[in-house]
Amino acid sequence: MRYVRFGALAVGFLCLTACTRTMENASSVTDLAEVSVFAMDTYMYLTAYGSAAETALAQAETRIAELENKWSVTLETSEIYAINHSKGTPVSVSDETSSLLRFSLDMSEQTDGALDCTLYPVLSAWGFTTGSYQIPSETLLAQRFAQTGYEKVQCNGSTVTLPEGMQIDLGAVAKGYVGDLLAEQLRAQHVTSALLDLGGNIQAVGTKPDGSAWRIGLRNPFSEETFAVLEVADLAVVTSGGYERYFVGEDGETYWHILDPETGQPARSGLASVTIVGQEGRRCDALSTALFVMGREKAEALWRQAGDFEMVLVTDTGEVFLTEGLEDVFSLQQDYADMPTEIIRR
Ligand code: AMP
Ligand code: MG
Repeated sequence: MRYVRFGALAVGFLCLTACTRTMENASSVTDLAEVSVFAMDTYMYLTAYGSAAETALAQAETRIAELENKWSVTLETSEIYAINHSKGTPVSVSDETSSLLRFSLDMSEQTDGALDCTLYPVLSAWGFTTGSYQIPSETLLAQRFAQTGYEKVQCNGSTVTLPEGMQIDLGAVAKGYVGDLLAEQLRAQHVTSALLDLGGNIQAVGTKPDGSAWRIGLRNPFSEETFAVLEVADLAVVTSGGYERYFVGEDGETYWHILDPETGQPARSGLASVTIVGQEGRRCDALSTALFVMGREKAEALWRQAGDFEMVLVTDTGEVFLTEGLEDVFSLQQDYADMPTEIIRR
């Protein structure tokens, strides 16, 4: 499903939420190109301005298709499929795939294993890979859990070796990496104003055409609404939350798609959503998933130590914690003005 639109239009937005967009009226007139595409299991909306925008977005769409063809877990011709069906024999992959895998493994190290690209067998036991949700039996979970562990993946140069029975899935970092590659491509094509919404992974290129910051809506994890807005330029804003994919079991409990690699169970760290803001989409993507698993205290410790990202945490009791670097660019929406908000300082 896709559409492409281009023309000289009156523009000016923007408030993007995980997956929703609102357009507002504005005064300036400029070239606007838009592409909407379903890829990597999500709806992606690309918007760019300027004379190079139409061509650049058409090429971006081609690029997304290329990367999806490499990284799809289910497509039999993908490089990830080849790795997952290699029965322990070494597989030669493209530079992009080995670079993304190495990045994911590196982020696993940096997050004490909270990010783990080998959880696919466990995710499928829960039905998160197909939508046929179920609470797996302890036996099945134990059996699948034994087939995980990022430290067992070998990636030397362009050669990947995965022990038989294991399966990898780069879904927790791929969209962020795609955002980086697309932003780089757009900048090289002299696009200075674009907003890429890759299913909750937002990548801002430059500013709005009028020079003001992009307004990115943050979704309330307990409803469909936007509870706050971040104003950013040239940054990635990536959110992970339990609300994105979940089911309610026969026991009445809610089970979501982000798993704790230590247990194989949905991560219950006390957080309902984690938004990371930083220069690199891939790093923001990896961190949003990992910090959701790690919880507030460990997330704060990592923030202090790393120094290259900012974050907004929403706890499962509806409190907001944001790091001091976002203080001046974060604002609660009117209906959420009373939401308890605390600034995390260094
Ligand atoms: P994201 O939306 O970026 O937070 O990624 C979540 C997706 O990554 C899930 O739908 C799973 O496919 C996969 N996943 C779940 N838990 C983890 C984890 N702890 N580490 C890495 N990938 C995970
Ligand atoms: Mg992620």
